[in-house]
Amino acid sequence: MNRGKRSPQPGDQLTIWIDPGAPRTVNVAPGPPPPPAPDGIDGARSVGAPNRGRIKDAVQLPDSPLYTRGFDRWLWGSSHTIRALHAAIADFRHQSGFAGEIVIGSMSLRRGGRFAPHRSHQSGRDVDIRLPLLPALPLTAFPNADEIDWPAAWELVRALVRTGEIEVIFLEGPLQRRLYQAALWEGATPDQLREIIAWPNRKGHEGALVRHSRGHDGHIHVRFRCGPDEPRCRPRRRDPEATWLASAPHSPDPPR
Ligand SMILES: [Zn+2]
Repeated sequence: MNRGKRSPQPGDQLTIWIDPGAPRTVNVAPGPPPPPAPDGIDGARSVGAPNRGRIKDAVQLPDSPLYTRGFDRWLWGSSHTIRALHAAIADFRHQSGFAGEIVIGSMSLRRGGRFAPHRSHQSGRDVDIRLPLLPALPLTAFPNADEIDWPAAWELVRALVRTGEIEVIFLEGPLQRRLYQAALWEGATPDQLREIIAWPNRKGHEGALVRHSRGHDGHIHVRFRCGPDEPRCRPRRRDPEATWLASAPHSPDPPR
């Protein structure tokens, strides 16, 4: 349309510019069918608590086109955890069509036990998954919030929750808002999200699966439940004498 004071008239030509925003990486087309569960991951059992425990006959996260593995020696877990993790990411890729990279960082050491700098990650049930980044950004463990592909992060959380095997997911409070907004955008309702993301109902909603814990900004820390064949698997110990509280007054909120 010619610049001018007159109102647009029928027959005028308009040039409309639409802000392309972030490229869409999920829910454009379905992904590949989920592959079968990997072989050779049976027999590993979680013993004790995530912050005081070990793994009996640990198995290692297998290679898979579904995800990128971090350091070998940090990727040991219980069979139940590895099975549920594999199923969740397969389901996530299939349902959302996300084809970008998903990086699995720390799980547990081969025998479990203390794994600095983590407080937990001891019994083969804790998994750090890097938050997916927008396409064409270089991989980094420390992205800023605008570099994170929040719709993909939400679809990943959603697939993890769908397994029914999640005990808790840690993500810093301010980032939960971004996850929440992406979830609304992808069609979730506030009612559905109340049980899943603590933000914005922090008070009285400690039961939500995604909870605040400082230091969880480039990744989510996912804790899977004990498996049905793990009678010695225990919840996290809350006994203050058993935790870092007594011995580490200068680090009020270290990684879990
Ligand atoms: Zn962690």
